[in-house]
Amino acid sequence: MDVLIALVNRIQRACTVLGDFPDDRNSLPSLWDSLPTIVVVGGQSSGKSSVLESFVGRDFLPRGSGIVTRRPLVLQLNKIDEGQQDYAQFLHTGNKKFTDFSAVRKEIEDETDRVTGKKKQISPLPINLSIYSPNVVNLTLIDLPGLTKVAVEGQPDGIVQEIENLVRSYVEKPNCIILAITPANQDVATSDAMKLAREVDPKGERTFGVLTKLDLMDKGTNALDVLEGRSYRLQHPWVGVVNRSQADINRNVNVNAARLSEREFFATSPDYAHIHGRLGSEYLAKLLSKQLETVIKARLPGITSMISKRIEDLEAELDHLGRPTAIDAGAQLYTILELCRAFDRIFHEHLDGGRPGGDRIYEIFDYQLPSALKKLPLDRHLSLQNVKRVVCEADGYQPHLIAPEQGYRRLIEGALNFFRGPAEASVDAVHFILKELVRKSVGETKELKRFPTLQADLAAAANAALERFRDASKKYVLFLVDMESSYLTVDFFRRLPQEGERVGNPTAAAVDRYTEDHFKAISTNVSSYISQVCDSFRRTIPKAVVHCQVRQAKQALLDHFYTKVGRYETAEFARLLDEDPVLLERRQRFARRLDLYKSARNEIDSVLWAR
Ligand code: GDP
Ligand code: MG
Repeated sequence: MDVLIALVNRIQRACTVLGDFPDDRNSLPSLWDSLPTIVVVGGQSSGKSSVLESFVGRDFLPRGSGIVTRRPLVLQLNKIDEGQQDYAQFLHTGNKKFTDFSAVRKEIEDETDRVTGKKKQISPLPINLSIYSPNVVNLTLIDLPGLTKVAVEGQPDGIVQEIENLVRSYVEKPNCIILAITPANQDVATSDAMKLAREVDPKGERTFGVLTKLDLMDKGTNALDVLEGRSYRLQHPWVGVVNRSQADINRNVNVNAARLSEREFFATSPDYAHIHGRLGSEYLAKLLSKQLETVIKARLPGITSMISKRIEDLEAELDHLGRPTAIDAGAQLYTILELCRAFDRIFHEHLDGGRPGGDRIYEIFDYQLPSALKKLPLDRHLSLQNVKRVVCEADGYQPHLIAPEQGYRRLIEGALNFFRGPAEASVDAVHFILKELVRKSVGETKELKRFPTLQADLAAAANAALERFRDASKKYVLFLVDMESSYLTVDFFRRLPQEGERVGNPTAAAVDRYTEDHFKAISTNVSSYISQVCDSFRRTIPKAVVHCQVRQAKQALLDHFYTKVGRYETAEFARLLDEDPVLLERRQRFARRLDLYKSARNEIDSVLWAR
């Protein structure tokens, strides 16, 4: 059964390490709140610290007049094997082991002042102390500032209310077991502890009444009415204790000796001997431990399902916000490359189908290019008048004899020049489609949204690559046009019928080379040559464009970027991955909490399986 309390101790410690404690003022409900804890409540000097010390068997709590306890002290008691040295550990001092308990007291005082300042204010920020000893029962207790009616001089006025609010914030939680301390030499009905306990737990279901200072009652009076449940009913039995008096403390009576004399006091007291088995600090510690176990056992299924639900919620929220980014350079580079690949995948889907956009490239080849080619002003270029002019100019002072070789060449070159326009226009049109697809893909890469810098750099790199592909593609298609100009297909002209034969005139040689028919024939010949070339362009321009732009975009869009990133100093990785700080903070908080819940779930699982 002890294993359960040890479990809760571990989860509570994890809660504190991970910043999940009751006054963690954020919107998320705290795991701590769902765990049962025992809170010590009572008026000033009612004996709270004395009760706690008697549980531990050691002097370690600060003493003095005024409000000594000014921060909650979360005290986790852990039983270790008999014969082992007892020691204490603070959460805020890490692994340091305190075996000198007066040093523990000093550390509590110093740590209190560190947060509250010398002005003796109070703070809700708890101090966490674990004590390991063979003489304790497993328990987690929280010591709180004593309830008081008046502020001591030097302390701020609002402190009375502040203390009450702090104490209330602990005891009003339904999982809190209230250890309500009342000195026996005071009226229970007016006890600060009982008043508060009754307010938050009217049925007395989670209140344990403790009477201290039974040795200080007036002669002839006893507390049996309270201890036997007649004057003030609670669900749980009242427990009376006798702690060390101030005089004992001054004489350095140690706690163990005090335990013995307490036992003797009850065993030999004429008033209490008949119930002495149900009295005393040791009995109280065992009773609380048992109660804590019972409560934990009852609540464990609820806690487990609450944790599972929270893990689900947090996972969903984190998926939405994105997972934490890596801190070391290698992992950062990996993250960057993963994000680039995610973008690249989406870009590919746009090109290859699955996402829209790639079809618009085919539209250019299927419709835009052919219709641009059809609209070229070839008719004007090959009009009789223009043919005549070009041929005559090419002839110069010596008119051609049989066929105007130079004239043909010039007419063809002139016509081929017209193809530069549609060729370049195809390149540009595909470029704009690719650019648009990059823009869309960047937007659709959800993971990138968190990293505005990387997103911008990536988009810029992709666009720069597209510009390079465009330049290369333009060079290439113009090259195709130039190739056609530099070497004409001789066969085509050799296969043409000679003019005389075509006209069917036997005196062909006598034909006047300068009749209209002659120029018409030249125009027709050039036109049919050009239309053959045009057919070939309609096929080769798309091939060139796809080769230079589309294929490159698919294969090498981010190559330059990868090279650049590969040469970066490690600090640059962090710059690329700098997140929106608000998002970052939120995500980190959620991620920490998820870790907490997961480790809690593992702890619980391991304990449940072990039983
Ligand atoms: P706290 O302010 O509630 O933490 O109270 P302390 O534990 O510091 O006790 C206040 C004073 O009451 C100290 O001088 C203790 O020695 C004394 N005291 C506490 N419990 C008892 C008790 O059961 N009997 C006697 N005689 N004195 C006690
Ligand atoms: Mg105290």
